[in-house]
Amino acid sequence: MHALSSNHEIRRTFAIISHPDAGKTTLTEKLLYFGGAIRMAGQVKARGEKRRAKSDWMKIEQERGISVTSSVMTFEHHGLIFNLLDTPGHEDFSEDTYRTLTAVDSAIMVIDASKGIETQTRKLFEVCRLRDIPIITLINKCDREAKDPFELLDEIQEALALDVSPMVLPIGSGSNFHGCYNVTNGDYYTAKTRGEAFDTVVETSDINDSKLDAIVDPQLLEESREMIELAQIGYSDFDLESYREGHLSPVIFGSALKDFGPTALLDLIAEIAPMPRPSPTTARVVTPDEKKVSGFVFKVQANMNSNHRDRVAFMRVCSGHFKRGMKLRQVRTSKDVMVHSPIMFFAQDREIAQEAGPGDVIGIPNHGTIRVGDTFTEGENIQFTGLPAFAPEILRRVRLFDTSKVKQLRRALEDLAEEGLTQVFKPNIGSNWIIGLVGDLQLDVLKSRAKAEYGVEIDFEPLSYNLAVWVRCDDEAKLKSFISANAATVVHDREGSPVFLAKSQWDLDYTKERNPDITFMKTRELV
Ligand code: GDP
Repeated sequence: MHALSSNHEIRRTFAIISHPDAGKTTLTEKLLYFGGAIRMAGQVKARGEKRRAKSDWMKIEQERGISVTSSVMTFEHHGLIFNLLDTPGHEDFSEDTYRTLTAVDSAIMVIDASKGIETQTRKLFEVCRLRDIPIITLINKCDREAKDPFELLDEIQEALALDVSPMVLPIGSGSNFHGCYNVTNGDYYTAKTRGEAFDTVVETSDINDSKLDAIVDPQLLEESREMIELAQIGYSDFDLESYREGHLSPVIFGSALKDFGPTALLDLIAEIAPMPRPSPTTARVVTPDEKKVSGFVFKVQANMNSNHRDRVAFMRVCSGHFKRGMKLRQVRTSKDVMVHSPIMFFAQDREIAQEAGPGDVIGIPNHGTIRVGDTFTEGENIQFTGLPAFAPEILRRVRLFDTSKVKQLRRALEDLAEEGLTQVFKPNIGSNWIIGLVGDLQLDVLKSRAKAEYGVEIDFEPLSYNLAVWVRCDDEAKLKSFISANAATVVHDREGSPVFLAKSQWDLDYTKERNPDITFMKTRELV
């Protein structure tokens, strides 16, 4: 199983995006199960729980019933290598989630059939759109009471401005749910016993095939035939190019819990999802078929084992054939790093990888020397671009209880910022750190990890500022004068880039108007 070819054409690297509770965990388990990676569905959570028990801060996850930890799951199926990158699914999320999406080539969007598009789905979708990431949609939980299929399809089209092409449509819903019909090949997925998991495929010539009359309730069948015919006329035909460009999403209606959908999804990913794509750098575009190894770090996870201060940097391989023991150049520091014990995240267990190809993710253990955004090459001086730092939505001043622990605090904040859990800013005036977060939950996580892992007790004080935006100006002198004129409201991020704090959108607009030469940015690319 692990004699992986470096051939990038056989790799499909993707993530699942969804609102909490839509069924991401269930779908992940089923994909791994039907993909042959696990023998029994249900192991994903069990393994997660074991891992959680190891670290104190993960108690928060347990209490809140969420999973902050992302991971990578690799499995082979249909002669292809699937890399499923997990994104944390809770309501408040960190930059981690966004950054994971920079390391995938496509995504599956899971929507709850009774709810339609929810806030988190929309946010994550916007990130995919920014990067033109192609999306396959699964409308899940069709075995429950659901919205009308047309209503759901229209909602996706309208709310996300995304064309839809229904491929698998439901026959019935809730207690009336009978199965799902695949309009692309005439297969009807159903169960021998009503209400049970999908176990039977009926091959039909089309939706009017009399085979269906023998098994489906006449009234339900009549309504469904009409719906399916209208759906085929009313929505776009599938167009590969349009999907690959991120304009059109094929839609599968199903039920992850009852096995309707996962296998059709796996087939569809194998058939249409893009192989690893070329990656832009500061100097040129790197194509996956290049001989030399290159990659970028999209995530760093600290303290995976609370006994050691170890970290794992997750690197997406962009080109070449990586072999264990290889020496790679960390471009930022110009240092060569020997990667002797890379970790590959096979679904069952972590293992030492012998080799990896474009699209694969390897974990590089290190002691804090590798950062998010780092590029590794075989010596070429290039830097992958496009990893975003997001404007934080929550700003707080950090208050330290025991002032003799300034050093520990600094270390904790720097480490956790490196992981992408928070952003830290240093004010020009005063010495208290300011932190910026994308979600509320990070405040609890930060407090509890600072205590458990660094022995510092902290609290947070509200600030009168609510927005933080990066400022840039090609004219150095103008930037300097802006910074000195706004000394109290300009802070610096970890890289030393200036960030302007505004009280409100009105305040920001006012400042913008008065400083037309300055560019204000909500996101900043890390490189
Ligand atoms: P996540 O928060 O997106 O990871 O969602 P989960 O996979 O944990 O699912 C949330 C709840 O919905 C769980 O109780 C699942 O058993 C249930 N669920 C997931 N998929 C389905 C489905 O297709 N049908 C039904 N009836 N329940 C489902």
